[in-house]
Amino acid sequence: MYANIIVDISHEKLDRTFQYIVPAEMEGVLEVGMRVVIPFGRSERKGYVVELTDIAEIDVSKLKEIKEIISEAVSIDRKLIALAYWMKKNYGGTINQALKTVIPIKKRVKEVSKVTVTLLVKPSEALALASEAHDKHWVAQARVLEAMAENPVTEQGLLTSKLSVAASVIKKLEEKGVLKCEDYIVFRNSISASSGNWVRHTLNKKQQEIADSICADIDAGINDTCLIRGITGSGKTEVYMEVIDHVINTGREVIMLIPEIALTYQTVMRFYNRFGDTISIINSRLSDGEKYDRFNLAREGKVKIMIGPRSALFTPFKDLGLVIIDEEQETAYKSENVPKYHARETAIELARMNNAKVILGSATPSLDAFYKAKQGDYKLYTLDERAGDATLADTEIVDLREELKNGNRSMFSAALKEAMTNALEKDEQIMLFLNRRGYSGFINCRDCGNVVKCPHCDVSLTLHRGGRLICHYCGYEESYKGICPKCGSKRIGAFKAGTEQIEEQIKVTFPNASVLRMDLDTTRGKDGHDAILSQFANHEADILVGTQMIVKGHDFPNVTVVGVLLADSSLYVPDYMASERTFDLLVQASGRAGRSNLKGKVIIQTYDPENAAIVASSKQDYEAFYEQEIGYRDVMDYPPVKHMMSVKIASADEALLAGASLKIKAESLKSESGAVIIGPANASIYKINDIFYRMIYYKHSDYDVLTAVKDSLEKHIRDNEEYYRKCSIQFDFR
Ligand code: ADP
Ligand code: ZN
Ligand code: ZN
Repeated sequence: MYANIIVDISHEKLDRTFQYIVPAEMEGVLEVGMRVVIPFGRSERKGYVVELTDIAEIDVSKLKEIKEIISEAVSIDRKLIALAYWMKKNYGGTINQALKTVIPIKKRVKEVSKVTVTLLVKPSEALALASEAHDKHWVAQARVLEAMAENPVTEQGLLTSKLSVAASVIKKLEEKGVLKCEDYIVFRNSISASSGNWVRHTLNKKQQEIADSICADIDAGINDTCLIRGITGSGKTEVYMEVIDHVINTGREVIMLIPEIALTYQTVMRFYNRFGDTISIINSRLSDGEKYDRFNLAREGKVKIMIGPRSALFTPFKDLGLVIIDEEQETAYKSENVPKYHARETAIELARMNNAKVILGSATPSLDAFYKAKQGDYKLYTLDERAGDATLADTEIVDLREELKNGNRSMFSAALKEAMTNALEKDEQIMLFLNRRGYSGFINCRDCGNVVKCPHCDVSLTLHRGGRLICHYCGYEESYKGICPKCGSKRIGAFKAGTEQIEEQIKVTFPNASVLRMDLDTTRGKDGHDAILSQFANHEADILVGTQMIVKGHDFPNVTVVGVLLADSSLYVPDYMASERTFDLLVQASGRAGRSNLKGKVIIQTYDPENAAIVASSKQDYEAFYEQEIGYRDVMDYPPVKHMMSVKIASADEALLAGASLKIKAESLKSESGAVIIGPANASIYKINDIFYRMIYYKHSDYDVLTAVKDSLEKHIRDNEEYYRKCSIQFDFR
């Protein structure tokens, strides 16, 4: 047995591991994460064990033995190393890749100057001024005043970024004597604002029952995972806050994961108002240094609650008591980089190590989570009514085939057009949703049928305004010449169904309405996202058109109509989770209508009106969808009924790739693991950026069987390093 050891646990040095022999008396005692004393050059050093292995990296005669184990209380670093090791074992990759995921990058702490903005008038006065500003169409000023009425002391950076107002707007209000700005030097914690006229909701009966039950379990040391299934707006967040309060009052710490896209100003403020300076927030836009500082505050105990996306899981808390994962079905919780960990399972392992609780929440739980809840692995709680006054919107499914029969060839069905007209007349807002960006604007030839493709990828190019053809996978661009590159025909054109085309169509059909568009192209800038959302929240536009990104978590009280232009488009992607994603998207989209006391209307346009996911989503009937879908998964041996591992083999050399994928399959057949093996087959997109991809899938009811196959393949690849040198091989678990 050998141990790989690092002597310096800092991000830059994680690649430097040293191997030592584990002396016989330490076998079975030594664990990953423990600190040990090792002979090092002519002296000794202390180091952490990061991996135990039976593979000697160099000539065994040159290896030395570990001297002793340092006995000490389990430290934060030890837990993080053990977690990294768990991730490597369960998801593949190297221990160094796992450690780099878990250990933050160390950067020097720099003090930065911040500007605090303080409201000088009463909140009620600020609101009155806001309404005056509105009348004069000073929308940005009004927005600042409204925000300040709610939070009379706030940070300028928050106002400018989250409300997308220029600093000059704030200056103007300062000149009017409504507020004052002050510079001060702060240590970089996330936000600094203080509570205003914020009121705390009394939980309703159902919310209170759930919170009480979870808190009682926590007090009794019962740490099974809970799943709260609660429709959008049912008050899950209030329940989380109640439990968080309970946990931090017992002196323990909390990590709360929220999909980045839902981490809006309102959400941040809700938590800030309740928990003040004890919370910190991270997001992917922070620099490494800022992230490091915030993690360090947690390590030092200055912060008790960390809110953020997936990577917030690795917050180095001393005494973690609770992990919450909101919208647990979100795909962003699964890492796209090696190790391809899932935040849900990783959180459960992290909680197990810390004797902490995990709460999962969702309106449309992942099939995985709900299956576990049904099996009794998770405790299930349900909230099936909206908490405030709002009621669910009416939903109508429109059959686009009927529209065609009636001669309507536009993107808007008669029903949608009518609903939009009504809403616009009442000055209410509309969201139109196209649930797949890649589907838009591809060019094909009416004569030879040729679809214009990227020369480097196996995908069609998309026509953008200004006559640019763009590849969304590699960024390749060319100008659109209007002739078929294959047959030279001029009868060539775009299949019009992209967000840009919808925007143009709206301008024709509703010339008086103003439109905002939100997709990957319009949100490229640093705060592009927030800017568009706050413009829409400011009612600077009547209609918001967008892709998935407009669907999640946003609360626009004035939106009464939501139109899903083509619900089917996400159903026919080659992925067994297509229906689950579609159901989730449609339910979330419907949840955007009628968030206040205005009655909402949702129109789902489709060519497949009987589709189970579409029908169930129109009734917001999760259980019906689940029953149907789990039956399909069962028949097909798909997760969550069976576990699945995919092996993705990539190479620029097509012939080598073909051989390598067959060799890998042959190797895995040798081990007679009992796993069902499918493939190798070309990946759904065979070529991206001149690299080719093939896939092999393995299914088995026992996860450990799959990790054993992975281990044996990793060994095989190591033993045949030369052969696989020009391939890259990645494992992915479902
Ligand atoms: P979810 O997280 O399930 O979407 P939220 O916790 O965000 O739901 O609650 C939805 C809305 O209902 C919010 O505006 C919130 O302030 C309000 N709300 C939640 N609980 C209550 C309650 N007990 N009484 C009144 N309003 C509530
Ligand atoms: Zn042609
Ligand atoms: Zn390309």
